[in-house]
Amino acid sequence: MPDGTAMTDIGLVPGRECGPCTVCCVALTIDDPDLRKVQGYRCRNMLPGKGCGIYETRPQACRAFFCGWRQLKWVRPTLRPDQSGVLVRLHYEVAKTTGEQRLGVMITLLTDAALKAEGLAETVAAAVNAEIPVYLHVPGPPGHTAAEARINDVLRDAVITHDKPALLETLRRARAKAKGGKFKPIVLPPRPAGRAGQ
Ligand code: SF4
Ligand code: SF4
Repeated sequence: MPDGTAMTDIGLVPGRECGPCTVCCVALTIDDPDLRKVQGYRCRNMLPGKGCGIYETRPQACRAFFCGWRQLKWVRPTLRPDQSGVLVRLHYEVAKTTGEQRLGVMITLLTDAALKAEGLAETVAAAVNAEIPVYLHVPGPPGHTAAEARINDVLRDAVITHDKPALLETLRRARAKAKGGKFKPIVLPPRPAGRAGQ
């Protein structure tokens, strides 16, 4: 980072607002006492193109969530999820031996066109260069599980040689391969007694 900011620094990036973006209101599985939904389906409170219809009283899970575009300065400004089709999430890797948590990112390409998003290759390359774990997340059909794969190693040559077409082609192939996998319906855990009907 030119200003000396560490790549692992997290904090809301000044000047970036959700605006009309509602990508996380569709793409996430949410299991909150006040809202349960599975990925791929629009939240019932969402006003398409406008935002949350219950913003002031939205569930805690929604209050706590900010995507990587909102929190990581090195994620390119052009990657607002609704405009780019690229959803970056913080994704912590836990070391098996020490239990230590390490910041990584999980990238979902929401559409085929997302591969052409300005700044995608540069953002991914920056993470790989900085040894930040990068996971490709490929959701199954709505309401189904997703495939996830750590892609640092397969991208490394393209990153080292600054070969942007090769990096994007590797991403495309990895996504296409994962999409052909098997996905299971998501089963949310039973809700606690007294919370029926949400
Ligand atoms: S995906 Fe990111 S930018 Fe879009 S509404 Fe969610 S937090 Fe905001
Ligand atoms: S409650 Fe609001 S912020 Fe939360 S998922 Fe639904 S529309 Fe989005």
